[in-house]
Amino acid sequence: MSPRTLTPAPATVVIFGASGDLTRRKLIPALHTLRCEGFLPPNSQVLGVARSSLLDETFRDQLFLGVQDYSRAKPGVCAQWNVFQDRITYLTGDYGDPETYQRLAERLTQFDAGAGTEGNRLFYLATPPTLYPTIVEQLGQAGLHRSPGWTHIVIEKPFGHDLESAHRLNEQVHIVFDEGQVYRIDHYLGKETVQNILALRFANAIFEPLWNRNYVDHVQITVAEEVDVGHRAGYYDQAGVLRDMFQNHLLQLLTLTAMEPPALFEADALRDEKVKVLRAVRRCTQSIRGQYEGYRAEDGVAPGSETPTYALLRLFVDNWRWQGVPFYLRSGKSLAAKTTEIAVQFKRVPHLFFASDEAQIAPNVLSLCLQPDEGMHLRFEAKEPGAGMRTRSVDMEFHYAEDFGATALPEAYERLLLDAMQGDASLFARADEIELAWSIVDPILADWAEPDAPALAFYEPGSWGPVEAERMLGEQGRTWHIGCGGHR
Ligand code: NDP
Repeated sequence: MSPRTLTPAPATVVIFGASGDLTRRKLIPALHTLRCEGFLPPNSQVLGVARSSLLDETFRDQLFLGVQDYSRAKPGVCAQWNVFQDRITYLTGDYGDPETYQRLAERLTQFDAGAGTEGNRLFYLATPPTLYPTIVEQLGQAGLHRSPGWTHIVIEKPFGHDLESAHRLNEQVHIVFDEGQVYRIDHYLGKETVQNILALRFANAIFEPLWNRNYVDHVQITVAEEVDVGHRAGYYDQAGVLRDMFQNHLLQLLTLTAMEPPALFEADALRDEKVKVLRAVRRCTQSIRGQYEGYRAEDGVAPGSETPTYALLRLFVDNWRWQGVPFYLRSGKSLAAKTTEIAVQFKRVPHLFFASDEAQIAPNVLSLCLQPDEGMHLRFEAKEPGAGMRTRSVDMEFHYAEDFGATALPEAYERLLLDAMQGDASLFARADEIELAWSIVDPILADWAEPDAPALAFYEPGSWGPVEAERMLGEQGRTWHIGCGGHR
């Protein structure tokens, strides 16, 4: 991963689907912050493309509202909006019409000549995924996949809805673009705390010797959402939690936790190691699927829908480092709290020579807190003051906000846009990585579709999911860790 101090060459960022939510809430606010912090060269251009008929001024006004609400650099503090907005323009056009791309090509040539963008182009696909093949094909037919400078394409998630469709989309993309030009985004990888998993593991000498089957009892990866499906019900009911969260975010967290150190800190070396982990994941044989009560009554959800809004998977990584260590991955909507954490539970001490009851001594847990309170907790035992020898669990804590200041954490999209412009694909998924992740998820979806599959487990909104998930861990002598370091 390249350091954030590098400023990319001036470029034109072309956003397809620019009239949409992602552009307003994430992309433009991130570009605005990059501009304010000096990472976006002043002569860079942003060109929005979509079907809606909008004047440049109307488009900018819409974007300004998004910048006010969502940009880390607030317009009141950073005085760059007025000059930045002059570099933002809009092109109305149909995504399947070659004429749109001819006009796009003309605009790009004008920018290169007038603004000095040197033929550097970042195409960003922020439309519904069904349009990705059309836009890629049209870009190719218009010759826009090549330019006098660099041309990169960012493709939003979801990338396919199963292995076959992801493979087909990869093939369609590769007809036009080389893999080195393609940036498949999973915004989780842009989060500072997710990258900190690598810093923790590979910039410290004390954890790595313990990071294996000899010392680790099991790993829990929790991505819990408090919100229900809300306005995404139509999409969500087709997708479900495995496609929406596991194929991308949870499996990415698994790979970063389980991977070997790469020989070089470079995109392909890093992704090679992640791919090895995905290849080593054994076919899942133990899972629980749940649905929150009331889901079937949501607007846009089919009556009697069997779509899971919660899942728990027990996975094993069949290699020397992790043989026999269960990785419990769970995620759901309408849960008790919004939290993302990875808890590494270590084995119990082999022998206790104090009089204390061994069962009373909790095992050490290292919790990596990815959100909302980013940081780390290490739980260990300490002697209770007083006579005798009794111990109690205590927490050693690190909080990003305390050590680096509350505003120090860049938004994921800032980092990812910058990396895509700089040509650093470390934090983007490679074609094989995406397909391997689908090859883990697809058989589980197929098992769940069998007539004799265990029934959906319903859970109360605001709880921690189905009681079956609690029971499964209990039967394996384990309990869930919640709240980054806190035992529940
Ligand atoms: P929107 O639904 O807001 O769509 C973006 C734009 O695409 C719309 O403004 C519209 O522009 C065009 N569009 C929508 N539906 C159609 C259609 N049926 N046919 C043709 N054009 C259509 O999407 P988002 O901005 O929310 O998301 C864009 C992409 O990013 C999606 O793939 C999504 O999965 C992904 N994503 C979004 C996130 C978010 O927070 N919003 C987070 C992570 C990923 P027009 O009609 O003007 O052409």
